[in-house]
Amino acid sequence: MKLPQAYASLSEQQAAEHIRAAKAALGPDLVILTHHYQRDSIVAFGDFVGDSLELSRRAAQVRDARYIVFCGVDFMAETAAMLCGPKQVVLIPDRTAMCPMAAMATRQQAVLAWDALTALWGDDLVPVTYQNSYADLKAFCGEHGGAVCTSANAQKVLQWAFSQRGRVIFFPDEHLGRNSALALGVPASQIRVWDPDAPDPQALRDARMIVWKGFCHVHTRFTTADVDAIRARYPDAKIVVHPECTAEVVARSDAAASTSGIVRYVRDLPAGATVAIGTEIHLVERLAAQNPDKTVVPLARSQCGAMYRITPQALAYTLDELTQGRFVNRVRVPKTIQKWANKALERMLALA
Ligand code: SF4
Repeated sequence: MKLPQAYASLSEQQAAEHIRAAKAALGPDLVILTHHYQRDSIVAFGDFVGDSLELSRRAAQVRDARYIVFCGVDFMAETAAMLCGPKQVVLIPDRTAMCPMAAMATRQQAVLAWDALTALWGDDLVPVTYQNSYADLKAFCGEHGGAVCTSANAQKVLQWAFSQRGRVIFFPDEHLGRNSALALGVPASQIRVWDPDAPDPQALRDARMIVWKGFCHVHTRFTTADVDAIRARYPDAKIVVHPECTAEVVARSDAAASTSGIVRYVRDLPAGATVAIGTEIHLVERLAAQNPDKTVVPLARSQCGAMYRITPQALAYTLDELTQGRFVNRVRVPKTIQKWANKALERMLALA
């Protein structure tokens, strides 16, 4: 839905006044969930701020609120809509906040890959999808004995998957899949890429871990040259990166951690430390502001355009309409998809 001009032309301060007033009017009926990559003027109004695992858990817990407004990207709001109660309403302030990586693996493509690989190995294969995927792909994993994971629990979910069967196919992020498998000791030679545009099942015959050829442009933007430049400029700096970065960048850094893991990593460094962070710029800048006793710098500037679609003006409109009983950009998932996607999500939440 296009934002009405009366809202599009609001200043940030005017939008904030609308948001405050609507929040006061809606009271406990409303919960606003905000992702760490949102801009500060959105995070300021979040009842909970977290990464996708933390927000999934929250969505499953906040049963008293009638309305959940999700300030993040589309697949996260879908997950909230699947985990919340049947009478709760989930809204996203801008429908165009769509994660490009989630669109890199469709259910249809997954079915083709599955058919080709099970023709090779029979049922000795478990599908695992990163939370950054659409509900129908999650449902595919649920239907075939698989699970969802987030960057915070990818290794744990993979361990579980390998305890079920001999091989894993991991959607849609090649890099999170590879980094997590390497961390578990899977040899690099047994990790192979499935390219949906040029599938070659025979070339994967010896693979144990099949990673989908998808990526996050925000995190693959960081290079080993960025790491070297930070080491030259700040020889004592620690470098921590998100596991959606390439394996080369992860290997050259001091640590790889999920979004919430990065928050803890910075918090736990001693005063006076210097840390360079390879993740979305809004989180890096917030961590710099929250840790004034440390030097916190970006490994390089990298912004998620999808997250940035959520503006204070759009949030103000969503909430004002809600006070009038009208739902803007309601997020719903068909029941048939929800049933199996929830199965995959429940397997993850049980492990976490
Ligand atoms: S940071 Fe990357 S994976 Fe996360 S929402 Fe943005 S594009 Fe998608």
